[in-house]
Amino acid sequence: MAYKNYIAGEWRDAESGATTASRNPADTSEVVGEVAESDVADATAAIDAAVEAQDEWASTPGPERGAILRRTGSLLAERKEDVTETLVREEGKTWSEASGEVQRAIDIFHYYAGKASDLGGEVKQSSSRDTSLYVRKEPIGTVSVITPWNYPIAIPAWKIAPALATGNTVAFKPATNTGITGVRLVECLEDAGLPDGVVNLVTGPGKTVGDTLASDERVDGVSFTGSSGVGDIVYQNASANQTRALLEMGGKNPTVVCADADVDEAVDIVASGAFGVTGQACTACSRAIVHEDRYDEFVSKLTERAASIDIGPGLDDPGMGPQSSEGELSGTLDYIETGVDEGATLETGGGRPDGDGLDEGYFVEPTVFSDVDPEMTIAQHEIFGPVVAVIPVGGFNEAIDVANGVEQGLSASVVTNDLNKAHRFVDEVDAGVVKTNEKTTGLELHVPFGGMKASSSETYREQGDEGLSFYTITKTVYMNY
Ligand code: ADP
Repeated sequence: MAYKNYIAGEWRDAESGATTASRNPADTSEVVGEVAESDVADATAAIDAAVEAQDEWASTPGPERGAILRRTGSLLAERKEDVTETLVREEGKTWSEASGEVQRAIDIFHYYAGKASDLGGEVKQSSSRDTSLYVRKEPIGTVSVITPWNYPIAIPAWKIAPALATGNTVAFKPATNTGITGVRLVECLEDAGLPDGVVNLVTGPGKTVGDTLASDERVDGVSFTGSSGVGDIVYQNASANQTRALLEMGGKNPTVVCADADVDEAVDIVASGAFGVTGQACTACSRAIVHEDRYDEFVSKLTERAASIDIGPGLDDPGMGPQSSEGELSGTLDYIETGVDEGATLETGGGRPDGDGLDEGYFVEPTVFSDVDPEMTIAQHEIFGPVVAVIPVGGFNEAIDVANGVEQGLSASVVTNDLNKAHRFVDEVDAGVVKTNEKTTGLELHVPFGGMKASSSETYREQGDEGLSFYTITKTVYMNY
């Protein structure tokens, strides 16, 4: 099956006619489908269409825009089973994880449908007589949405829904290896009655399609989620035209386990944060920072937990699916080798699992390292796989120093029943999302999400009410009558 670009309301092949195979990471002999391998010309056509549709969409009443978003969410709900299957086949996560993600996308469309009907402004007292003074929000115009493969429907949803709610048009590039999931989402938008040109989808390489979406001077905002290296390029391309950019990038997220913690609870929290979605979340836990009094017990129980996780194709809904691509798998295996070379103790995992058919996919074992020094590579670099480094510390202040001693600051959690430590953690940790007695992953859609330090461009947050800010510009009106 071949999947096309969607530009100006038409499903079109790439101008070159080229396609790329999207393969199942659990069984690479299975081609899930072919997606258009687009080029600069296709990306430019998508922006042309979005610019053309802009004025009409911006002047469509908010409640009317909201009704289309609501229908999109409902269509996605009707197609949930089918979309979940596409997502599992294309990205590899387990059925439960994928179905939860599709549900999140449905909920996001319904949430921003409500916002579209309810966009407000502010009225203030003027210093002059017979003058009303008010502040209104307008759409910024045309936005590019560039998304990664790890949450191939939730992340596009949390960018596209607020963009549309506020009256912007969109040029959307999903990651190439999850292009079909992107198509499934756009099909719902089309069938919900979205006017032609309001959302345009182009699949293809980052270097050409992504680069064009970030650099075209007609684009008013670029919303990007992906790696730090690509985020830097996107930022430079956007800022060359003074285009607004929102970047969500990596994390090296810690869970601090205090001396008073219930170790079994701490193991649950770290294991689900580290091994859920095969460790391929920007909020995944990759460092457990554990008080020395509980260290041995924690390491042994976490090791036992990791070794007990059943690995298999996502369609069988196992404990953990494969990595999403060969590149991700080899990146993880390289980091594991570096961990061993630098002297950390490999407690469990570290390689590719044996088992029926597992060698046909990008499977890797859940991996636990102990005796990790905070300066080691595995304690500093983001590893986009199921690997956790357990670092011993002598006390709470040292734990905070270690937690903050990395470049990123996305999500952080602490396991303690001591109210004082819980509050001090919130005060002192450098992270945009802070949790007590919970895993670092998992977000609620109606509160802001974003990181500190190198994890994000700090000017805008996604999701919740704040998620609307990136897509709007403020106009202040002095109405002297
Ligand atoms: P991930 O591996 O998490 O998908 P990447 O940063 O590699 O993260 O990719 C995120 C998105 O950015 C993908 O859609 C990718 O195709 C796109 N991309 C890659 N290179 C560029 C680039 N130079 N300019 C714009 N987008 C790019």
